[in-house]
Amino acid sequence: MYFTLLGPTAENSAHCRYLSAANAGLLLDAGLDPLLEGRAALPDTSPLDHHPEYYPVHAILLSHAHVDHMAALPVLAARWPEAGILCTEATWRLTRLQLCRHATLWAQAFERGAELEEPLYGPADVQDLEERVRFVEKGERLRLEIEGAEELHLTAFDAGHILGSTSWLIEAEGQSLFYTADLCGRPQSVIQGAVYPPGADVVVSECTVAWSPAHAQLARRAEIERLADSVREVAALGGSILMPVFNMGRAQELLYILHSLKRKGRIPPLPVYLGRRAWEIAQLYDQFAAKDRRLLPDFQFSQTLVDIVDPEESALDLEGSRIFLVPSGMLQPHSASWRVARRMLPLPLQAIFFVGHSAGGSFAKRLLKSKPGDLLEMDGAQVPLHCRVESFLFSSHSSLPELLDMLQRVKPRLLVALPGRKDSAQRFLEAAQAQQPELRVEEALAGSELDISAA
Ligand SMILES: [Zn+2]
Repeated sequence: MYFTLLGPTAENSAHCRYLSAANAGLLLDAGLDPLLEGRAALPDTSPLDHHPEYYPVHAILLSHAHVDHMAALPVLAARWPEAGILCTEATWRLTRLQLCRHATLWAQAFERGAELEEPLYGPADVQDLEERVRFVEKGERLRLEIEGAEELHLTAFDAGHILGSTSWLIEAEGQSLFYTADLCGRPQSVIQGAVYPPGADVVVSECTVAWSPAHAQLARRAEIERLADSVREVAALGGSILMPVFNMGRAQELLYILHSLKRKGRIPPLPVYLGRRAWEIAQLYDQFAAKDRRLLPDFQFSQTLVDIVDPEESALDLEGSRIFLVPSGMLQPHSASWRVARRMLPLPLQAIFFVGHSAGGSFAKRLLKSKPGDLLEMDGAQVPLHCRVESFLFSSHSSLPELLDMLQRVKPRLLVALPGRKDSAQRFLEAAQAQQPELRVEEALAGSELDISAA
């Protein structure tokens, strides 16, 4: 088995890897960099072009429906038209929703002349994928039938990251590989924690937040209590709260947390305004409630009282203590959250609570590093910061102790760390080797091929 990391790279955060096993080629994830545009956002598949023993891609495996893991699918599927697409039904439904949304927005921008580059794909390209998708059930071991290839089996495991997310056990050439993209070893508020196979020769794993001591010590319940206290304080003064969120996953988790805090009387019954896209995704969470592993299988988002806003269109009223759960999570310029933030920043009674990751260079990061009274540039204007700004940790990634716990259960002989934030990969490998000295460890570097068959 040979493994090649195609992304993320230093310049592009799209997730995509290539595995050759049993004389077959598998593409693991097909992401797009959400902060780049046009072809620059696609993962770099050029290492495959120069590969001496390259097999075409026979199957594309999707781990989950975050843009950086699946939004290049129409382009990559068109490059390998024979490849089947494998994922859970929930992942496909969430993926299709977002691919159609991208395709429609790009087509509109192109027609308006706002975009000069032709869109990467259109709605018809997304439609064409439908017949190539094969749904997998978690826990079901299936044989991949590929002409000319040796025996190859796949089993999907719950990755605990967002609705439908999976890791894969790939069995070929007499050995087994556990590949996991985004993974969460502990339960969140709506979905349960990850499930691991009883053993595997090789583990290829994400380690996004392994560098972070805050994640390692995270006590989710205490963080929810801290959020409740802060919401009460802002509400007592009549202020509103903006929580910039990503539509997929974090918005639904926060919606549930606010709903349950209101039911327990821990926060006042403030109206919650949710973006339309996040509500559509919440409805898909409801549809899969019985099928997916849930902490509360009977809970339905339709029970939560929310007002749906189309932040693209409506002028949001800040008066009278409201909570806005709107995208983007990093306050991308001109997004709904950025526009609400622009109005809130100069007003001392208003509050912005961050509940997700803020990448370096994002407006969210800049705001988090600012002090009261600082001026922030927004669209040419200098806006003074007077509102309350706070940050809460609601991670959907495994911390370092949770990653080490996974290794103790799966007991691999070889561990390959995928790139994480900061020096996460090195820290993960060092800690893994300290725990299990005979473990062979490798760091996956973009574009270079790893022989993982000699484990
Ligand atoms: Zn993800």
